[in-house]
Amino acid sequence: MNHLREIIRTIPDYPKPGIMFRDITTLLSDPKGFMGAVDALVQHHVGEDFDHVAGIEARGFIVGGAVAHRLAAGFIPVRKKGKLPADVLQQEYELEYGTDVLEIHRDAVKPGDKVILVDDLIATGGTALAAIQLIEGAGAEVAACSFVVDLPDLGGRAKLEALGKPVLTLVSFEGE
Ligand code: AMP
Repeated sequence: MNHLREIIRTIPDYPKPGIMFRDITTLLSDPKGFMGAVDALVQHHVGEDFDHVAGIEARGFIVGGAVAHRLAAGFIPVRKKGKLPADVLQQEYELEYGTDVLEIHRDAVKPGDKVILVDDLIATGGTALAAIQLIEGAGAEVAACSFVVDLPDLGGRAKLEALGKPVLTLVSFEGE
């Protein structure tokens, strides 16, 4: 996965001082990079027992959509507040300053469905945990969580594993 690591661009101090922003647009625009990342996620999950792939807005739509297509699974968008047209379930979550809200359509999953959750990056895990609460609040089970990038020092992966969720990450940036 060294190739993937090299083609992720780092923007220091974006969106604010002190943040090292791991920009996957440079991975997405590289044909081998995009295919390599999607292949790795697909190979990990192929043959597992699941019904849907859920992706978190917005970069999770790109990676999760490709993974769902390759696994011949349905795709569920987990969206920011106010974007979904039908009846929704909502989950508030903490940002560094203040809170935000994620939503899924109320009928996006059925009780007992198994879902693989996909996003581009896990940092503190707050976003992924909110998505899990939404999906599991609707009676489905998040069977696994997959991310292209892990920022392990921020502890998100450990939080998901403490909940018993298997977590796959492809590239790790330590010390951020
Ligand atoms: P968190 O909820 O702290 O795990 O943050 C994860 C979400 O915020 C993901 O959807 C990422 O796209 C975005 N994010 C957080 N930190 C970074 C970072 N350093 N570089 C790029 N994206 C980030």
